[in-house]
Amino acid sequence: MNDVMHFSAGISVMEISYILASVLFILGLKMLSHPLTARRGNILAAIGMILAIAATILFHEKEGKPIGNIGWILGAMVIGTIIGWVIAKRVRMTAMPQLVSFFNGMGGAAAALISMMEFPHVSQELMMRSGMANGHVLAILLGLVIGSVSWAGSMIAFGKLDGKIGDLRIKALRYVNMTILAGIIGFIVYIMTRDVAASAELTHLIIILFVVSVLYGVLFVMPIGGADMPVVISLLNSFTGVAAAMGGFLYNNQAMLTGGILVGSAGTILTILMCRAMNRSLLNVIIGVFGGGGSAAEGAAGTIKEITVADAAVLLSYSKKVVVVPGYGLAVAQAQHICHELDKMLEEKGVEVKYAIHPVAGRMPGHMNVLLAEADVPYEQLVESDEINPDLPNTDVIVVIGANDVVNPAAEDDPSSPIYGMPIVRAREAKNIIVMKRGMGKGYAAIENLLFYNDKTRMLFGDAKSTLQALVSEVKAL
Ligand code: NDP
Repeated sequence: MNDVMHFSAGISVMEISYILASVLFILGLKMLSHPLTARRGNILAAIGMILAIAATILFHEKEGKPIGNIGWILGAMVIGTIIGWVIAKRVRMTAMPQLVSFFNGMGGAAAALISMMEFPHVSQELMMRSGMANGHVLAILLGLVIGSVSWAGSMIAFGKLDGKIGDLRIKALRYVNMTILAGIIGFIVYIMTRDVAASAELTHLIIILFVVSVLYGVLFVMPIGGADMPVVISLLNSFTGVAAAMGGFLYNNQAMLTGGILVGSAGTILTILMCRAMNRSLLNVIIGVFGGGGSAAEGAAGTIKEITVADAAVLLSYSKKVVVVPGYGLAVAQAQHICHELDKMLEEKGVEVKYAIHPVAGRMPGHMNVLLAEADVPYEQLVESDEINPDLPNTDVIVVIGANDVVNPAAEDDPSSPIYGMPIVRAREAKNIIVMKRGMGKGYAAIENLLFYNDKTRMLFGDAKSTLQALVSEVKAL
């Protein structure tokens, strides 16, 4: 069949399909970087993936034989597609970060499984040829370790984002983790330097390597908490990409290799950006186990002042400049549409309204961009927090909606705080501060926020959506 499928230059249809798929992945990724093109980018990348899968099933062959187990492959694909489709359709928008973590973990698990299945075959083949381990074995071992760490770590991240798993803050854990990591590296070196003729014995070592890697994945994410979760999530993302790239290398599959490298490098860039946004080094995040969640701010609070919806409506309507700080609570309340309605009404009254976007607001990278894009808030209205900060002293009212940690002054004032050093939206510099939240609940980092006790702050308690609805009616009536 492949004679027909080869072009004169010796490039097969499969290879052309892989190149096309890779181009679609790259274009898709590029388009994902802007909310306006993100949806189309996602579709392009999905078409690339379908093309790569179809080409593999139709044209891949080994030693002149086409791919086997077609029934099993198609069956697994149908079951996986149905499960993925149903979960993704049913998921609440607020549970999206957990779902992303879960799906990322599945990618890691798939890469680890490939390594487990392929190790005996590859080592036997090599044994017949050279008797020595080589790059393929290294790719398998790295795919196994990185994929397993990514899987286990993502499952813990999933539990944490879902509020089912708390942080395990034990300082000694960092030494345990470093020891396990050193053990894993030693294990890989041991397997690599053994004559693969002994592959039968080595197979059970692979199981041990898998178990230890899973343990490492669990213990590595368990202590990470406070505001460092975004960094870990993007790091796990890049791990899955690297593990998939190892599979691509192993199978000499260009589409898998490109896809893996794209995810790996995009995840690494995101990790670096997140580290910068949090003002931390990666090493600090990985081995720095936080102390308790309390901060010097605890107990040092003061009195809370409230504002009525009617007064808030007047204050906003007669302002020149208003800045909205959206946070996780806005996503929980699904208040993005009504929030945009309010900003449109204010703009009609001649008020300039901008949104201050903090890089780790919400529960996943880019969460606020996605949320506000869903409500069709024009992209020009969204301003990165470090860009808007210098403008805040000239801002009449800053409206903090369901945000907490990202406006917490402890990040600048309190060296004992777990979020100390994280750049924030400097809400306290605005002339007036309105904070919309349901009560005095803490944010993800579980620490007190003195902004709520600031002289300029007035609290507007209630669910963000109903409060905004009431505010819209009041502003309309003015
Ligand atoms: P926070 O988690 O700090 O605070 C959210 C606030 O929203 C809470 O204090 C809560 O107070 C309020 N809230 C909850 N539900 C509602 C509702 N229905 N209506 C109104 N208010 C509500 O959110 P931020 O966005 O400020 O900060 C994000 C935090 O999450 C950071 O610490 C970040 O590090 C972390 N994180 C971010 C990730 C990312 O990738 N972006 C990933 C993982 C963690 P109350 O209960 O009183 O209403």
